[in-house]
Amino acid sequence: MPPIDPDTLKRYREAVLADFPRSREQLARLVAIPSISAQKRALPEAAAEVRRLLEEEGFKTEEYTAGSAPVVVAEMGEGAQTVLFYNHYDVQPPEPLDLWQSDPFVLTERDGAMYARGAIDDKGHLISRLAALRAVKAVRGKIPHRILFVVEGEEEIGSPSIGNFVRDHAARLKCDACIWEFGTVDIHDRPLIYGGMKGVVCLDLVARTVDRDLHSMYGAVVPNAATRLSQALTSMMDAECTVTIEGFRDGIRALTPEDNAALDALGDDSIPMRKNHNIQRMLGGLTGREYMKRLIFEPVLNVNGISSGYSGEGSKTVLPAEARAKLDIRLVPDQDPARIAPLMRAHLEKHGFHDVEVQVIEDGGTPARTDLSNPFVRRCIEMARVAYGKEPSVWPIVPGSGPMSSFIEYLKVPVSTFGIGWEGGRVHSPNENFRIQDYLDGVLHGALVMDGGW
Ligand SMILES: [Zn+2]
Repeated sequence: MPPIDPDTLKRYREAVLADFPRSREQLARLVAIPSISAQKRALPEAAAEVRRLLEEEGFKTEEYTAGSAPVVVAEMGEGAQTVLFYNHYDVQPPEPLDLWQSDPFVLTERDGAMYARGAIDDKGHLISRLAALRAVKAVRGKIPHRILFVVEGEEEIGSPSIGNFVRDHAARLKCDACIWEFGTVDIHDRPLIYGGMKGVVCLDLVARTVDRDLHSMYGAVVPNAATRLSQALTSMMDAECTVTIEGFRDGIRALTPEDNAALDALGDDSIPMRKNHNIQRMLGGLTGREYMKRLIFEPVLNVNGISSGYSGEGSKTVLPAEARAKLDIRLVPDQDPARIAPLMRAHLEKHGFHDVEVQVIEDGGTPARTDLSNPFVRRCIEMARVAYGKEPSVWPIVPGSGPMSSFIEYLKVPVSTFGIGWEGGRVHSPNENFRIQDYLDGVLHGALVMDGGW
């Protein structure tokens, strides 16, 4: 691997810094469009703006229809290797609005950080990729690779269409490596590199015990839906929230020596996590390596919310007829998402919860892995060392989820993730922001990765 000489690195740093006003102008244009996929709002407008931005950089663009939002595909340059960037232009709803300190759709600088909905997720990342490519052009005169972009507009609603899109357009999207949509520095400000993602299944559990709400005096004899739902939920896990559904762990891939080495090299995030979020105790009382292992390599059954009966002001005595819990279940390689709902139904049946129904909301989120020893991944790790001057933190799997498995399965390429986020970035929350220095470091890292082959 050719190292970057100090003079070239200096020129890269200067190019990235000098280019920041251009990033800022482009990002301001993109965040001004409230492209909220959950509300099917302004998606064609955002796709059109993405095309304009790419065309300004010299890309040829095309637009495809996939599901409820256009997919933008762009192509530029030539080279022995093709790098595909996957990004998305849709964002989460900005609510609650009263918690924002500035308009979520106006890019605003405060205290060395830039605020807007989508500042990180994922409009900021998209613009940072363009800035990285501009830096390579500024320093080297040309980019040594053919570049593809796939930019979708349904990521924040679970990317229901991109998997089939990638499958159907695999020849068009043929490439040698893929750079994923996000990345971050960790809690210790070290760059993070991820080698895969958890899968996700979203389900509703619904308990119905009686045809309508009753006076609570019948609670002595009539099963309460809220209680039944709680009992059903707790039957699926032990006291430390390890899932106990029969067959649930089938297919979980054993850790490789490289996975174990990656775990050994990670710091203990449990300490700052507890401190920053005022958490008394982690599940299982875990710290250190065991905490990291559970966070990265273990599946999770998470309760997003429970609704039933009356939870307003004052008292109302009622026996609710129905209770509903929204769950997301994060899976690790090679658990099969299609098996989860049937396993859950069998569990409920076996444990006497005939009155609790499983409704599948989304069960297409397959877990994904890229081998950490892949030469492209090695290059991303090496260039992170150069760009940040720190040892990167390499996570075999990011605990979150996304449609990465389709890119690995249909395009058969390594996927690497890095970017501009940080622990206080408030992604999906009010006051989403990136720190300008993290942005510049992320752009530099991207530029150095693109500077040569692997
Ligand atoms: Zn998001």
